[in-house]
Amino acid sequence: MQENPAKVQKLKAKPTVFKLGGSAVTRKEKPLTPNLQAIRRLANEISQANVSPLVLVHGGGSFGHPVAEKYGIKEGYKEPSQIMGFAKTHQAMTKLNKLIVDSLINHNIPAVEVQPSSCVVTKSGRIQSMEEKPLIKMLETGFVPVLYGDAVLDLETGFAILSGDQLVSSLAIRLNADRIVIGADVNGIYTADPKIDPSARLIQRITLNELKSLQHKIEGAKATDVTGGMLGKMLELMPAVEKGIRTMIVNATKPNMVYKALKNEKVVGTIIEKGETVV
Ligand code: ADP
Repeated sequence: MQENPAKVQKLKAKPTVFKLGGSAVTRKEKPLTPNLQAIRRLANEISQANVSPLVLVHGGGSFGHPVAEKYGIKEGYKEPSQIMGFAKTHQAMTKLNKLIVDSLINHNIPAVEVQPSSCVVTKSGRIQSMEEKPLIKMLETGFVPVLYGDAVLDLETGFAILSGDQLVSSLAIRLNADRIVIGADVNGIYTADPKIDPSARLIQRITLNELKSLQHKIEGAKATDVTGGMLGKMLELMPAVEKGIRTMIVNATKPNMVYKALKNEKVVGTIIEKGETVV
């Protein structure tokens, strides 16, 4: 998380980094099943919003995760059968990526796939280096690069899973982004998981300090998975928010939320801001 790229390359216009959550573009409970209707609707919303420069990142949803899990890619390289598992994990992600890129192109967006496994190396799961020049050149030329959570090579552990969320944060910092928009399958950050706790309330604005205290509360309550779900996502985004990059989470499963967020219109969601308040 303490990644600090030596130099931030200068783009003339500051890009927007937009993440499409895996749960919004796939049917999470069914392996390798895209939500084509949602992909088409979102491609249309992105096209209508007409934001430039724009970098897109999507999650794995039901594509990358089940394959990566089967072969223990996250645990690193331990035995040769995982090499095929790595290839299959990447293959699953490129299938989802192709559906998304195809739909964006059908909606007149000059989308180009950028494979994280070919331009990022991690060290113990954290981004160690990223080849940024092609990305910067693409953005300057007017393309919309589309990256995704992927299996990547790791200097310590051999293999790692690079989450779309880590990628979003790192890209936003490296490309000196104007803002980050996260399209989730819930309205934003709640006081508890809204899918489990009906009394959960949406937090419309949260500062970094408040987010940290929320994290401590949840860790104190021994939440089963502090690396996944919304909290893990927030922790990944913290370095970008710390750098002053405006960050907003909206519901990408509801029509027009992404459009409004990209257009900077008022929309239901959570704004994460640097803030000064100590909680
Ligand atoms: P994606 O795959 O779209 O990137 P995840 O499924 O990893 O997203 O994380 C989003 C999920 O996190 C939501 O669907 C929600 O069920 C869960 N979640 C857990 N805690 C919270 C919370 N406090 N606020 C909002 N969502 C939460």
